[in-house]
Amino acid sequence: AAYHEWYEKHTPTSKQAAAEANEYIPGGVQHNLALNDPWALSITRAEGAYLHDADGNRYIDFLQAGGPTVLGSNHEAVRAAVLELLEHCGPVTGMLHPSETALAKLIHDFMPAVHKFRMLGSGTEAVMAAIRVARAHTGKQHIIKVGGAYHGWSDQVVFGLRIPGSGPLEAAGIPAPAYSGTSETAPGDLEALRARLTVNAENGGTAAVLLEPVGPESGTHPAPHDFNAAVRELCDEFGTLLVFDEVVTGFRLGMGGAQGYYGVAPDLTVFGKCVAGGYPAAGGVGGREEVMAAFAGGLTAAGQRALTGGTLAANPLSCTAGYHTLLEMDRLDAPAKAGAAGDRLRAGLEGLIAKYELPYVTYNFGSIVHLHTSGVLHLRLDDPEFFDKLTPRLKMLGHMSLAYAAEGVITLAGSRIYTSMADTDEVIDDALAAFERVFAQ
Ligand code: PLP
Repeated sequence: AAYHEWYEKHTPTSKQAAAEANEYIPGGVQHNLALNDPWALSITRAEGAYLHDADGNRYIDFLQAGGPTVLGSNHEAVRAAVLELLEHCGPVTGMLHPSETALAKLIHDFMPAVHKFRMLGSGTEAVMAAIRVARAHTGKQHIIKVGGAYHGWSDQVVFGLRIPGSGPLEAAGIPAPAYSGTSETAPGDLEALRARLTVNAENGGTAAVLLEPVGPESGTHPAPHDFNAAVRELCDEFGTLLVFDEVVTGFRLGMGGAQGYYGVAPDLTVFGKCVAGGYPAAGGVGGREEVMAAFAGGLTAAGQRALTGGTLAANPLSCTAGYHTLLEMDRLDAPAKAGAAGDRLRAGLEGLIAKYELPYVTYNFGSIVHLHTSGVLHLRLDDPEFFDKLTPRLKMLGHMSLAYAAEGVITLAGSRIYTSMADTDEVIDDALAAFERVFAQ
């Protein structure tokens, strides 16, 4: 209650902005991350480790717009490169710009499995393109994803829990045939994956297995360390392409991404976020030359082309921002620094969880830090009281995210944290003090 009171008292401009937005924008807020919270903050300045709202409150930014800003917000060298481009070229021409090749070559240098790269408008589009080109290349029909993974909002990878005996939770407006070629297996379950590949082999075959290498939802259900290598072998056995969704892990986990971290080369890699350094539009797909050839036209067995497009896809602005972001991240060793901040934060949270005997669990993959109520991880979908148990927990996470914000820390839905290079020891210690003020209550 004290924290709801804080929101009422200390964020009048945000409250007014949200009320005005609600007049013209469905739901009042538009970004899907902002939709996670039952309250809205109007952020008017972002810099390094901090966000500032319209009422002058300052927050440590552990949301990081969902992950692209490993250098910290509004990094100066990237901004300078973008401003110079805008001065001479503007954001888009529809023709070739040198930054496109520079970005594709740099990605290949960091991730040798990405021979060829196609820049697109978003991670969602990149997943759509990967699925399309996998089907074009293999001539097979089915796609398998890991249950609980978010791969963007396109029809065929619809996000959400499958309600027993019904469709996915977030499938309103999507006709069932649109996702009938997609199946899900439980996180980390190799036997279920083999069984699904075997069933599919009798019925059109599997074009691709699509997964987040750290486990669904940035590792909310962490993948066992040898899982990716085992899936690689299964894909080879069944003549199926392995697609890594590195929208979050790409460059955040290291310049070699999760594929470098696990030492497993996928056939295709999906990019987003860091690939344009937090500038629009951020998406891309890359991989083996002979697979990627289908994008070029006339090169599949059937002589067809897998169409991709986008008026603003591969624009000079996003390619320039992406190129300079990756250069800077490498030069400054940003993934390692952000990862060290994540380690420090997780260790501190572990101490607080023990001190206050909280029903929480925390763990991290470098700069991707999880802070979950232990019960959510153990809820089973086939539990008849699933929603009765889930709803109060989600409500509680909503309260927690507001409490953290009131104490000066913005998280992703109160349960996930992205750290950046800008999170010095001092920033992390301040954040831990804020978490402690909440936990103490
Ligand atoms: N894949 C993963 C793993 C993601 O986390 C996201 C977005 O958060 C997407 C795909 C979709 O990317 P975008 O939001 O750029 O469409």
